Amino acid sequence: MDVALLERLALCLEERFLFTCVVERVLRVPATALNGVRKQMFLNTLVTRVAAIAPPVDGFRLAVTDFDLYKTSHQFIFGDANEEQRVAIVSSHRLRSEFYGERGDANLLFQRILKESVHDLGHVFGLKHCFNARCAMYFSSSIYDTDNKLSHFCESCEKRVRANR
Ligand SMILES: [Zn+2]
Ligand SMILES: [Zn+2]
Repeated sequence: MDVALLERLALCLEERFLFTCVVERVLRVPATALNGVRKQMFLNTLVTRVAAIAPPVDGFRLAVTDFDLYKTSHQFIFGDANEEQRVAIVSSHRLRSEFYGERGDANLLFQRILKESVHDLGHVFGLKHCFNARCAMYFSSSIYDTDNKLSHFCESCEKRVRANR
């Protein structure tokens, strides 16, 4: 992943969560970790690898990957989280305009990564999916959902995040 993009992401996440956010390191995951048939990465494979890095004290970890992700219940996912392991994962694979045959748009890509990062970190903070289509905790089943939602929480999700801190 592009480090400049991650640095910018870290600043935006700090603003939203009021936590110090540090871009840590590159985690190299060999292509052999992919499901060879689906050409996708199983979510839990990545969660396990990310969780294996010693966790920061009282911290949370967000991993951004370009691999296409899936889990047992979903053909693909933009990301997910493991609350217990305190790990959030976001895949940029289907957030790129190029995936939909459109011209690359760095700003749009950033906004999409930010929305899904806020969403999956929200899970780490104990939030469930929200029915408000504008809330970051709204579940994106397609890129249209992601584009339609905002990169912050609705009032009630925001309250819950503060209560869970
Ligand atoms: Zn979710
Ligand atoms: Zn909400």
